[in-house]
Amino acid sequence: MRGGRIGYILLAQMPTPQETTGAIARTYIKDLKDHIGQEVQIKGWVDVRRDQGKMIFFDFRDVSGKVQGVILPNTKNASGVSAHEVGSKVRSEWVVAVKGKVNQRPERAIQKDKQNGNIELEILEMTVLNEAETPPFDISGDGKEIGEDVRLKYRYIDLRRERMQKNVINRHKALQYISQFYTGEGFFEIETPNMTKSTPEGSRDFIVPSRLDQGKFYALPQSPQQYKQLLMASGFERYFQIARCFRDEDTRGDRQPEFTQVDIEMSFVVQEDVMAVNEKLLIGLVKELYPEKKIQQLPFPRFSYKEVMEKYGNDKPDIRTDKNDPSLLAFCWVIDFPFFEKIDSDSSGQAGWTFTHNPFSATKPEFIPDLLAKKNIGDIMAAQYDIVLNGYEIGGGGIRNHTPEALKKVFEIMGYATERIEKNFGHMLKALASGTPPHGGLAFGFDRLMMLLQNEPNIREVIPFAKTGEGKDLMMDSPSEVSLDQLRELGIKLSK
Ligand code: ASP
Repeated sequence: MRGGRIGYILLAQMPTPQETTGAIARTYIKDLKDHIGQEVQIKGWVDVRRDQGKMIFFDFRDVSGKVQGVILPNTKNASGVSAHEVGSKVRSEWVVAVKGKVNQRPERAIQKDKQNGNIELEILEMTVLNEAETPPFDISGDGKEIGEDVRLKYRYIDLRRERMQKNVINRHKALQYISQFYTGEGFFEIETPNMTKSTPEGSRDFIVPSRLDQGKFYALPQSPQQYKQLLMASGFERYFQIARCFRDEDTRGDRQPEFTQVDIEMSFVVQEDVMAVNEKLLIGLVKELYPEKKIQQLPFPRFSYKEVMEKYGNDKPDIRTDKNDPSLLAFCWVIDFPFFEKIDSDSSGQAGWTFTHNPFSATKPEFIPDLLAKKNIGDIMAAQYDIVLNGYEIGGGGIRNHTPEALKKVFEIMGYATERIEKNFGHMLKALASGTPPHGGLAFGFDRLMMLLQNEPNIREVIPFAKTGEGKDLMMDSPSEVSLDQLRELGIKLSK
C-alpha cells in the first residue's frame, strides 16, 4: 500500500516547519527530492547504520519517510569535528539532526520503487539530540514475528514501525473522513458523558466509585445509547460521535475492554433512511481512502436473519466470492431480527425473555399491536439492522421505540417489575413522554472496521495503545493496586 493517498504517510498537507536551527530550516524527509543540489537539515531517527570503514551509511527516518545518508571520508563540520567521529558513535533509534547536501544518485544506484530511491544525503554535520538504549526488538519489519506482549509493553517503540505508523495515521484519516461526511449530511458532533449510569447493552459495566457520595457508583457507558436518544428528545435531529465504549466482558482474544464506536442517531427517519446514509458513508470512505479496494456488490445485498441462518448458519456471513483477495470488501446488511429470545432461566431461576440486540429498539411497524398486547412474543421482529463486512459484524442499529408505552412493554416482557423500570429507565420514559420524535440510529465498531480496511488480523493492531486479550495494559502496568488512602477516601474495604 505504498504510495497513493494512504501510502506511507503521504503528508501533503504538512506545512514546512518554521522552526530553525542555526540558519537552515528543517526539511521533512519526504520533501528532500525537491532540494537536489541544495544543503538542507533533517531531523529524525537513525533507522539503520552500516559502517563500512571509510564510509558510513545510514537510513534516516522521520514521520514523513526514509532517506539514505552517507558520510564520505574526511568530512568535518565548521568547528572541525569529524562527521565520522559522531557517525561511528550513533546507533539505531538515536535521534539526530543532520546537515547535508542532497545528491542525485548515479543511474546504477537508483532504487526505483523506494521512497527517495533516486537521492542520497551527503552528510556534512551530525548532531545527537538524544541517545537511545538498544531497542527490545527490531522495528524494521512488520513485527508479526515478535511476541505481542513485548510489543505491547514497549508500544511507543513498536509504533515506530512502518506498518503501525500506517495503521495509526490511516485511522486518523478515516476519522477525519467520517466527521466530515456526517457534518456534510447535517449531523452535529455532540459529546456525551463517560461517567454515567448503567446502560443495558447486554454486557457487564465497568463501575467507578464516587468519593463524594460514598457507596454509590458511576458506570462507564457500554455505548452512548440513552444519551443519543435523549439528544433526539432535545431536538438536535442528527447526532454523531466518535465514542469510547466500555464493556467488561470475559476474556476473548479479539475484544478490548474499551473500544471506539462511530455512533449516530437521526430523527424523523425510518429504517431505510438510516441504512442509506451509512451505506453512502462506507462507499465514500472506501473510494476516497482505499481506492485500490473493490466493493463486491452495490448496493449492499440484504439478507433476513432467517435467510442467513439457513444459508450460512450464522448472522455475520462472509459472502466474499474470493476469500484470497485481500482487496475485496463484501458488505451486506442483515435485517428482520427477532426482537426477543427465550432465556431458560435468569439469575433468579426464572425463565423468560431477553432482547436480541437492544432494549430500546422498536418492533417493525406491523408488530406494534402484538408488542402492546404482549402477544406472539417469539414472532415479534425488531426494526434492527446489522452491517457485516467479510464475515465480521462491523455495526448495527435500529429504529427506537419513541412512545413510553411501547418501551415499557419491552421491559415488562423481559420480566422487569414496575419499580425497577421506573428506577432504571424512568428518565427515558419521561423523555419519550415529553415530545420525542420518531428516531433511530446505528453504531459502527470502528476498530473492527479499521482492522479489515488495513488487512490486519486483530483489532489490537489498529489501536495505538491496546490492551492484551486479558484486558491488561502491559506498558502502564494496569490494572494496578491503589493506595489504602485512596480506598479509605472512597469508603472501600477490600475483602481478601
Ligand atoms: N448502541 C448500540 C450498540 O452499541 C448500537 C445502536 O443501536 O445504535 O450496539
